[in-house]
Amino acid sequence: MNNAIITRFPPSPTGYLHLGGARTALFNWLYARHTHGRFVLRIEDTDVERSTQASVDAIFEALEWLGIDWDEGPYFQSKRIDIYKGYINKLIESGHAYYCTCSPERLEEMRSKAMASGGKPKYDGTCREKGLRPSGHAAVRFKAPLSGNTIVEDRIRGNIVFDNNELDDFIIARSDGMPTYNLAVVVDDITMNINMILRGDDHISNTPKQIQLYNAFGASVPVFGHVPMVLGHDRTRLSKRHGAMSVTAYRDMGYHPEAMINFLVRLGWSYGDQEFFTRQELVEKFNLEHIGKAAGVFNPEKLLALNAEHIRASSDETISVHLLPFLKQKGIHAEKGDYLNAVIGTLKQRSKTFIEMADGAEFYFQEKVTLDESAAVKFLTPAVLEPLRQIFQALESTDKFDQPTLEKIFTEILEKTGLKFGKIAQPIRVALTGKTVSPGIFEMMETLGKEQVIGRVKAAIDYIEKAS
Ligand code: GLU
Ligand code: ZN
Repeated sequence: MNNAIITRFPPSPTGYLHLGGARTALFNWLYARHTHGRFVLRIEDTDVERSTQASVDAIFEALEWLGIDWDEGPYFQSKRIDIYKGYINKLIESGHAYYCTCSPERLEEMRSKAMASGGKPKYDGTCREKGLRPSGHAAVRFKAPLSGNTIVEDRIRGNIVFDNNELDDFIIARSDGMPTYNLAVVVDDITMNINMILRGDDHISNTPKQIQLYNAFGASVPVFGHVPMVLGHDRTRLSKRHGAMSVTAYRDMGYHPEAMINFLVRLGWSYGDQEFFTRQELVEKFNLEHIGKAAGVFNPEKLLALNAEHIRASSDETISVHLLPFLKQKGIHAEKGDYLNAVIGTLKQRSKTFIEMADGAEFYFQEKVTLDESAAVKFLTPAVLEPLRQIFQALESTDKFDQPTLEKIFTEILEKTGLKFGKIAQPIRVALTGKTVSPGIFEMMETLGKEQVIGRVKAAIDYIEKAS
């Protein structure tokens, strides 16, 4: 257990969980599951102004929908302030940090001077060797190495070398005593025994500072991998312009969480030219070697195609769990069970989303079919009255109502009347569903059952008689 991989997902609760964040969570989760390691959830909520409970809830909700579970946590940084303060004191005591009393005005002046001379804004070290005591308004700075390099041995990008000269004596505690972001992250990752960090490459500039902190604490540095950002189709950073950004928006649009997982993993990871993956397969196959250096490009058509594929690959029971809320939204009071499963069985080859499926399922739950006006006028005509009557009689007198029996009944009637199946299929479809598009006639009839079918055919006969 000592050598177990321990990964983490540390979202900042300043909004919903977006696709990029979900992909980061997924990569860390998959790697932990793949290696039989552990996955830790931590909420980085020290930015009180921007963090909200609503965002925390939204993140939990999204992770739950995606089936990303955690072995430890959720930890909240806001509840760990004392731990950070203890670690800040350790650095002061060991000479790796110092108090700084420079005024904001001085620092601003330093910054603008550096900018004006084309240099990087950087603290000039005024207080570095002063040995100042804590005082009301002193911040704490990290005493960063002045020479040499800090190397990020990145598992995805290879070694990235930072010249320490370019780095700064960055602040680790503000003048109000609150820890800064980099300090809190490192203390958490040390105390939570994190040894593998996969995150977006927007964090790369933090990594050398964090490595310096690990070294100052005498802690071992975790393995880092920085994943390229997700881009929109126009190769700019993914944003609202490219489609919905929040993960749960896709749930609400009728997407299957397994399709979302499959889609997210392919935004940066590949396995030959395989596109379709089940979760189980991903747990088996996910590795760091196949995380690409190039940015993943968000392609909504691909997501839709994967969704259709995952719907087809799911059991009827699984689908029913996802479908029920959409049926409810339409005012349909369906329940889990054989009937719903059979309904799903007739629709899953033809539905790209659960919304589409719920629309397609509506007729199964109506007491009386609502006839689409133009479909009825076109297909429920006097010419089909006689065949419909014969079908009605034959259906009424059969006890068996399975597909082969139904097919046989139809074949006999078509032979007797000399009608082509094509001539009678649409009228029957309209009679049963009210529409011209539906699952196959016989599977639909078997699913609806005898009572519903003959009732609907009778209603169609009545309609034709009344109309003529
Ligand atoms: N809280 C950071 C974020 O949401 C993550 C930091 C990290 O992965 O180290 O971007
Ligand atoms: Zn200072």
